[in-house]
Amino acid sequence: MGIRENMEAVRSRIDGYARKSGREPADVRLIAVSKTRTPQEINEAISAGATDIGENKVQEIVDKYDAVLPVSWHMIGHLQRNKVKYIIDKVKMIHSVDSFRLAEEIDRRAAQHGISMDVLIQVNAAGEERKFGVGRDETEALLREILDKCENIRVRGFMSVAPAAEDPEEVRVYFRQVKAIFDALQTCTHERLDLRFLSMGMSHDFGAAILEGANMVRIGTAIFGARDYT
Ligand SMILES: *Cc1c(COP(=O)(O)O)cnc(C)c1O
Repeated sequence: MGIRENMEAVRSRIDGYARKSGREPADVRLIAVSKTRTPQEINEAISAGATDIGENKVQEIVDKYDAVLPVSWHMIGHLQRNKVKYIIDKVKMIHSVDSFRLAEEIDRRAAQHGISMDVLIQVNAAGEERKFGVGRDETEALLREILDKCENIRVRGFMSVAPAAEDPEEVRVYFRQVKAIFDALQTCTHERLDLRFLSMGMSHDFGAAILEGANMVRIGTAIFGARDYT
């Protein structure tokens, strides 16, 4: 199957899970994750309806940006502070804020460009050592510190990557825990807080994520095929 067929198949599966979880298809946003893919492939996905593109490396965004049709870019991977300046004027949202020092740098660069950057706080729900993200019990403190001190950042929600599991049912608990944080913090009000997005779910586990409340899914393999890193 080609990218167009894959896009349609993925979108219809998302729609099914959205309905199953009592929401409308339009309530779940698809981020097409294009790491290792060419601008041509990305443009094919855009022609097939992709409105949001996700990359996990700064270099890939910079390299592809000019060759890709107008679209919303999302930085979904670990972001080093010294690279924020390369993408601050290119991305619509940064999903991977996991420290105050990173937030500070995003804030500083956003100020230089006269913009406000939308971010998600990345939560390491399972507390895995090799994964980025703040622990569940550190999430609220980071959120409050960003709101207090970063005037050019708007916090829009949370992102999480579940542990790899054969059976996505095994990781539903982690999606549920991040959703619980998202729900609990809805009572927090601040002019730079607009908690709307829960970015959870990848090719192998997006169904479970949507059923647990995700409203942004980041899907690469199911759209573009298996990645070849060789
Ligand atoms: C690669 C990647 C995805 C997409 O993974 P697939 O399994 O290819 O769907 C989602 N989120 C992040 C952070 C990624 O790096």
